[in-house]
Formats: sequence, structure tokens, C-alpha cells
Amino acid sequence: MALKKLVAGNWKMNGRLADLPEIQAIAAAAISHGDVDVALGLPATLIAPACAAAPGFAIGGQDCHWAASGAHTGCLSVDMLKEAGASFVIVGHSERRTDNHETSLDVRQKAEAAMAGGLLAIICVGETEAQRDAGDAVSVVTEQVRASLPVTAAGGAVAIAYEPVWAIGTGRTPSAADVAEMHAAIRAELKSLLGQEGENIRILYGGSVKASNAAELLHIADVDGALVGGASLKAADFIPIISAAKR
Ligand code: PEP
Repeated sequence: MALKKLVAGNWKMNGRLADLPEIQAIAAAAISHGDVDVALGLPATLIAPACAAAPGFAIGGQDCHWAASGAHTGCLSVDMLKEAGASFVIVGHSERRTDNHETSLDVRQKAEAAMAGGLLAIICVGETEAQRDAGDAVSVVTEQVRASLPVTAAGGAVAIAYEPVWAIGTGRTPSAADVAEMHAAIRAELKSLLGQEGENIRILYGGSVKASNAAELLHIADVDGALVGGASLKAADFIPIISAAKR
């Protein structure tokens, strides 16, 4: 059975209180698109104000620490995110893997902490352009899935976001055939790791999704939603992507 699609925005280091009306407009669209799950990953400073401004709408963080508390300057625990109102957290985004040298083991520990605390973990994986050019994209990404996924992962607790690093913020996307090949490979990996439960985990595509390409990308086999960066910042850009996810 097809999984309900999830269209999640990743605001990265963007968003101030002045942007709450955009969040409210996106939350209103989420209500009118009830057959699609919609969510926004916000900077931590906006989580509580956004939850107050758009009650019931799925707001999440963009990273968490795996520890519950302690000497980790600048980090946030799962319980801190939950207290602010988050219902999910993005882990292992390629910008964090690159800028903060996060390994797949780090990502797995973060995802485990999120699962234990009841936050949906959106686990990001993706190859660099050099890895794709070398013909290694599928092996790199399936290895990231193996190493980043908690052994107890289940459909309601985690989603995978396949985000080719070279497609993020560049306006470039893989061909539909390449997306289909990668999502099929990730699905096969999930099933080999988790058995039948691997069918229940949503696999999102991310990387330069916009209104003009969303319908094609979102209706490729095993694409169960999208993780959207730049085009999620404005309701006028994001809402057509949500609409494109409808069957
Ligand atoms: C992202 O960073 O998660 C992303 C998909 O960005 P963009 O849509 O801007 O490529």
C-alpha cells in the first residue's frame, strides 16, 4: 500500500519572528491538504513561537544531540526540542555532515535519541557529485543508510531523506530514472535491514525541489515525499509543492 506522502521544509539558518505569517499560511495549507503530511524544520529559536502561532502544525528541529543533558555547548537535547513543541527532527543533513564533520555513527545516535524521545527522525543521506561520477552513488548511499539507521527503526519513527549533495541549493536534480534507481536501492536496503517494516519507512527526495519539478519527482516509485530547502521559505513557493504531492 502506498505510504502517505510527507512534504517537509528545511528552513536552515533562515527565519525570524517576522516570518510567522509565512508559517501560518503553510499551516493553513496543510489543513486543506489533509491527504499529505506537511512539516517545517525551523531554527530552534522559532520552534516555540511557531507552535504558538500555528497550533497543531508539525514543527521540528534541524539537529539534536544524542545525550539527554550535559557539557555540550550550543547543542540541544531531544527533550529540549520537545519542550519547545517539536514533533520531529532532521538528522545527518549533508551540511552538518560537512560543516560539523558528523559521521553516520553520530547520525545513528541522534536518530536513536529522537526515537527514544518520541520525535520522528528524518535521516538524511546522499552522495557527492564526485561519488556519482565515479559510479559509487548507490553503494555510498546504501552504506550511509546501513550506518545511520537505528536497528529498531520503524515506519512511524523514522523517515529517510535522499538528498544528493550536488543537488542541494543548486537548481540541479537527478534524472527521474536516477531517483527511481536510488529510492529502489534504499527500499531494498531498508527491507534487508528491517524485514517487512522496511516497507513502512518513508523515503523522501530532497535537492532543488520546486513547484515546476515537484509533480514529476513526487510521483516516482518509492518517493514518499520531499525535503525542501529554499522553496519552503515562502508559502507561495511551498504550497504548490504540497499540492503536487496529492494523488
Ligand atoms: C535541503 O537542504 O534539505 C534542500 C533540499 O535544499 P534545497 O531544496 O534548497 O535544494
